[in-house]
Amino acid sequence: MLSTMQDVPLLVTRILRHGMTIHGKSQVTTWTGEAEPHRRSFAEIGLRATRLAGALRDELGVQQDERVATLMWNNAEHVEAYFAIPSMGAVLHTLNLRLPPEQLVFIVNHAADRVVLVNGTLLPLLAPLLPHLPTVEHVVVSGIGDRSALDGLNVRVHEYEELLEGRSDSYDWPELDERQAAAMCYTSGTTGDPKGVVYSHRSLYLHSMQVNMAESMGLTDKDTTLVVVPQFHVNAWGLPHATFMTGINMLMPDRFLQPAPLAEMIEREKPSHAAAVPTIWQGLLAEVTANPRDLSSMKQVTIGGAACPPSLMEAYDKLGVRVCHAWGMTETSPLGTMAHPPAGLSAEEEWPYRITQGRFPAGVEARLVGPGGDLLPWDGASAGELEVRGNWIANAYYGGASGEPFQPEDKFSADGWLKTGDVGVISPDGYLTLTDRAKDVIKSGGEWISSVELENALMAHPEVAEAAVVAVPDEKWGERPLATVVLKDGATVDYTGLREFLSQSIAKWQLPERWTIIDAVPKTSVGKFDKKVIRQQYADGALE
Ligand code: ADP
Repeated sequence: MLSTMQDVPLLVTRILRHGMTIHGKSQVTTWTGEAEPHRRSFAEIGLRATRLAGALRDELGVQQDERVATLMWNNAEHVEAYFAIPSMGAVLHTLNLRLPPEQLVFIVNHAADRVVLVNGTLLPLLAPLLPHLPTVEHVVVSGIGDRSALDGLNVRVHEYEELLEGRSDSYDWPELDERQAAAMCYTSGTTGDPKGVVYSHRSLYLHSMQVNMAESMGLTDKDTTLVVVPQFHVNAWGLPHATFMTGINMLMPDRFLQPAPLAEMIEREKPSHAAAVPTIWQGLLAEVTANPRDLSSMKQVTIGGAACPPSLMEAYDKLGVRVCHAWGMTETSPLGTMAHPPAGLSAEEEWPYRITQGRFPAGVEARLVGPGGDLLPWDGASAGELEVRGNWIANAYYGGASGEPFQPEDKFSADGWLKTGDVGVISPDGYLTLTDRAKDVIKSGGEWISSVELENALMAHPEVAEAAVVAVPDEKWGERPLATVVLKDGATVDYTGLREFLSQSIAKWQLPERWTIIDAVPKTSVGKFDKKVIRQQYADGALE
């Protein structure tokens, strides 16, 4: 029999209403690079989101289900778009501003975006693309930045603030089906064309609740989170929606993502939490080592998106900043796991748990699949591909304005699980340890070498700033590891020394014979090590 409970749809609109009233005094603070940052309350953001929705509908003719693109940094206006667009029944389509131009063109054309909201500072990026974007009719510009780049282009240009002026403070928000599309984000297309993941109102709502749980980020209205993870990729890890649920204040860096301004922001605005990929934290660490700053306000930071080297965690521990490691992907909204240790352990006992990728929340089921398709036990030793399913996990990609959603076999199992492409083990108590991405594992003489394990070991060396290890072809073994190493400023270290250092923790047969010192590890559009580029550079494996 059915329950006797009410069936109220889980909508972004409800999160908006809740945040702007119950938590109306909470704030979004946006860094401006000037003496004072810009501050706007949740109540104001809510009102402006309401006006924005009115403008999009009445001035620009935005319809339900229409994709509306944003090309924006993390800032108050982007938060307004995050609520206005889904709540009116349209689909927030965030564009990753770090993607190569041809991928951005592909993505906008594939989504058939008609309206683009853009920060003025990003017009030099958007303007040259517009002649290749036949569906785009309207460009809405916010904030500072020279508008002349748009002169003579075949689009209608609007000023964001002018569009909002004089608009009604109320909007007849539609009662949507909670399964309807609310937002979309394309994967970065490391292989093939980028693929669109479409989030529903329901998935965003449930994901936001999970972000707020104590077993995840566990923040309250007494906290301020520094949202370094970009709003233009995977919904800034769900933070803009989650914060409106619980009144967490947001500190937004806008375009000031370099280590020095980030350090200044932390010292001046005293966030209690921050979220970013490891490379941001590496950069910040180097900065505060050279120019000490007070980071003591940060009780907890979430590091994820790529493996966090244990040495990086240790360094922040020493600064009194506790790191919590997290795993996720575009297809998982992104929250998959977080590495809070079980209760009742000493700091020493907690450590092995903290350096895992973490535990699965109730909303995410996991299984490990071996090379032959067999399910592997959670014994902490059997390594296989991670597959997941749950309420905020994708089960297909967007097929384009006129196409059906599609489910590539290498991404979705026949019985409805997402194949993550990540290889690892799960402990009997449910902690995931990733050893590699399937495509990054080094297959040497029939055995697997984990590139991540070598990188973590190398980055624990006091003279090493960053290290990326990739497979290169080898006549005898099939593949062998090549270690590319970035040294700290002024450091001198030789390969023999590095090999000796590695041999303290790594089996001898896994030690790289091929080494190269580089100035910087190439990074992807979201700041992860771009091993594809490194592999291409050393494709012949000739380096000795
Ligand atoms: P892409 O990097 O392909 O653009 P995503 O941003 O969705 O796509 O990244 C998801 C991938 O990032 C995961 O499949 C995994 O390989 C990697 N990743 C994310 N978090 C972690 C982590 N904590 N440890 C190791 N790898 C991670």
